Amino acid sequence: MRAAFLSLLLVTAAPAASPFPVPASSPAGSTTEQAEASDKGKGPFLLPGREEDARVARIAFRLARLGVARCPTSVPLPGIVLQHLTQFELADRPGMIAALGLDRGPAAIVVVPAGPAAQARMQAGDVLLAIDGQPLPPETGTSDPFSAPQAHARADRIHDMLERAAARPFTLTVLRREATHTLNIDAPRGCRSQVFLARSDQRNAYADGRHVFLTTGLIARLRNDDELAFLIAHEMAHNILGHAAIMRSGAVRSGIGRTLGRSGKVIRETERAADRLGTQLMLDAGFDPLTGSQVLQRLGGADLGIALFQEHDPVATRVAAIRVLVDAHGGQAQGAQDQDVPGRGGH
Ligand SMILES: [Zn+2]
Repeated sequence: MRAAFLSLLLVTAAPAASPFPVPASSPAGSTTEQAEASDKGKGPFLLPGREEDARVARIAFRLARLGVARCPTSVPLPGIVLQHLTQFELADRPGMIAALGLDRGPAAIVVVPAGPAAQARMQAGDVLLAIDGQPLPPETGTSDPFSAPQAHARADRIHDMLERAAARPFTLTVLRREATHTLNIDAPRGCRSQVFLARSDQRNAYADGRHVFLTTGLIARLRNDDELAFLIAHEMAHNILGHAAIMRSGAVRSGIGRTLGRSGKVIRETERAADRLGTQLMLDAGFDPLTGSQVLQRLGGADLGIALFQEHDPVATRVAAIRVLVDAHGGQAQGAQDQDVPGRGGH
């Protein structure tokens, strides 16, 4: 139980991403064709082998964008996923430098189709050099062994720069095949949503106050985008509601594991709140929370990090509470017709 609690809300070491092949050349095509091909790795929006990263990014973007009214703070959403050299194990770094030029800066491994960066013609494989004309600080510790906190700190620092580039539009300077391009990004605002996909056979999803972590082992068990959106929305909700701070405060005693008592009550309340806000975010974004909640019934047993925790309400109780919200919303997702916001559909 204690391990499950820790994986729920605290940062644990995320495995380094595995290396991926040299990006394919980017054939020109219509935006529609590119969008249709995007999750299959054929368009300019993602690198080969990064289909699941693209799926996560597309869904997270949609939830963050359409849920903006529910978030106390909003940030520009450029619709890209960056990968940094220090996010790889030492042995993999020379290959990443050769394939993607990660020694020059972070590379976009995913560009959300039809998102702001895609509209500015950013491509997967582009290396980011500057934000609004400000060069990125050099990446440090590139000869140190992989360290999750160090890798996260680097990613956070670049995200902070992106968030501060609040003037619309702002520019991204990128390196593409040894040529420099300056792209004008007109990014709408949305909820903060740094979602990381960790290569791991474990099945886990958790939030640490700023980031959401999902594992490939968990995603492999999901049946549809609604289930994935359910997991992302629930964890995003924990971050939006500041639950990590509650867990770290005196409200939850550190000696959990035997009798939780008052701590258990606090945790149950945070879980109910995350289910409520997660459901609202899904409805805003046009996902089906009830279809998504089937992931609880199917994986709610032994080894799904977020769901096994004993202090959750029973699955039937959680689904019943979600159904009340869906019914109050009119029983159907109202965001589904927002065709201009990428992220719905696909799988
Ligand atoms: Zn939770």
